[in-house]
Amino acid sequence: DHMVASKEEDKSFCALAGKNVMNIILVSAECAPWSKTGGLGDVSAALPKALSRRGHRVMVVVPRYENYSEACDTGIRKRYTVSGQDMEVAYFHAYIDGVDFVFVDSPIFHDCKNDIYGGNRVDILRRMVLFCKAAVEVPWHVPCGGVCYGDGNLAFVANDWHTALLPVYLKTYYRDHGFMTYARCVLVIHNIAHQGRGPLDDFNHVDLPGQCMNLFKLHDPVGGTHFNIFAAGLKTADRVVTVSHGYSWELKTQDGGWGLHGIVNEIEWKFHGIVNGIDSKDWNPKLDAHLQSDGYANYALETLRTGKSQCKAALQRELGLPVRADVQILSFIGRLDHQKGVDIIGEALPWIMSQDVQLIMLGTGRPDLEEMLRRFEREHRDKVRAWVGFSTRMAHRITAGADVLMMPSRFEPCGLNQLYAMMYGTVPVVHAVGGLRDTVPQFDPYSERGLGWAFERAEANMLIDALRNCLKTYKKYKGSWEGLQRRGMMQDLSWGTAAQRYEEVLVAAKYQW
Ligand code: ADP
Repeated sequence: DHMVASKEEDKSFCALAGKNVMNIILVSAECAPWSKTGGLGDVSAALPKALSRRGHRVMVVVPRYENYSEACDTGIRKRYTVSGQDMEVAYFHAYIDGVDFVFVDSPIFHDCKNDIYGGNRVDILRRMVLFCKAAVEVPWHVPCGGVCYGDGNLAFVANDWHTALLPVYLKTYYRDHGFMTYARCVLVIHNIAHQGRGPLDDFNHVDLPGQCMNLFKLHDPVGGTHFNIFAAGLKTADRVVTVSHGYSWELKTQDGGWGLHGIVNEIEWKFHGIVNGIDSKDWNPKLDAHLQSDGYANYALETLRTGKSQCKAALQRELGLPVRADVQILSFIGRLDHQKGVDIIGEALPWIMSQDVQLIMLGTGRPDLEEMLRRFEREHRDKVRAWVGFSTRMAHRITAGADVLMMPSRFEPCGLNQLYAMMYGTVPVVHAVGGLRDTVPQFDPYSERGLGWAFERAEANMLIDALRNCLKTYKKYKGSWEGLQRRGMMQDLSWGTAAQRYEEVLVAAKYQW
């Protein structure tokens, strides 16, 4: 039986990609589990696997920040020029879950292993230059399973400003000179707030001919006339993907485009919005390994009530909060910065503390916000726990044990935490922006539809209004609450559909340009 099933699966895999089978190379500054600071790391790990399941030959290229035991030295060494200096890289390789992972090794990546975007602007820029140059040539030099990818039928997927130089190099050094003629590059925008901005002199570090300067030159009220890597990437990429439809729209506006809205409007035809999927092995309450000890439990739709209550009690116990089933647990998980709006939770805190709730927060980031979290806990020992740090295990346990996840983000290109929350029957309360607006339709008590609360402005009073309704539903309308949880859990948020959309964009980049 098993044999039959897997053969059937095989057949469907091949049929999925059909005649459009491609060699796809995703290039990213981070990839979980080896390197991750946020959603980008998760996407770089999960999307390639989903594309490979559709029948493509797929590779991920990522810097080798540390010694990763899975990856072997291929023995291949190449030299690239970075701001006039000759630098050598080594290529390491691993084949995992149907995907080739190629790690680009150089001491300059090791130096920043504890803070992969750390260092001064020029150091960061030099890292990205070396990485992009080394990544474009991977299909030529690095044999995977004995055979190089080659440059026919090749599609690169670059991500954010860190790898936005890749389409520029691909065009300027290769395609314009008759190399890699059939290779295409799609640039994915996960976050436009970081652009690789600098003074015009930064052009000296990217090693490009003078006429390319115009690609990088941008004028806006904030930066004046400056050097902008994202701008050049957007102009030279064959297609651009944003991680939600809402975000795609926002990028065209003055507020949402962060100075790039002019360019975005000019090249609107290149844009596609694709909401991220989630790794349904990693973030699945049925299989979650972090729920298999310390009194937590795996659960599914059928065991939602008992399983989730068990996780809630375990979480309260682990964090030393009063173990009570009827108190609503509000939670926050994420980077502590202006984007994520945790200061808005701070402003709403007096009201929150006046309610019968517990508050659990996990995050790292800006020191003043870290201190704010610690202060919440100090001042409300009976109700608040603030875990300042990065802990994947706690992120999973909070997602399982909490009733509510708050995301009052000022902007949010996609947002993964609200998706994870819904998979675990944890109800999201979000600011209706970007991907949050796309993925969390507002609860309507009359029709019993919707998946959470989505408030209109990133302000404390709006958050409080939403939380008030959310708490009332939790306390008084148990049926509605369970409906919210179940609808959230029943969604198909896996990468399957999103990967198919990516494939369509890659095909479009190849045939329609
Ligand atoms: P962003 O990419 O803007 O940081 P996302 O919601 O897309 O936001 O993804 C954030 C990812 O990082 C999620 O997987 C989340 O669980 C994880 N994460 C953020 N902060 C922490 C933390 N302090 N500890 C553990 N995981 C965290």
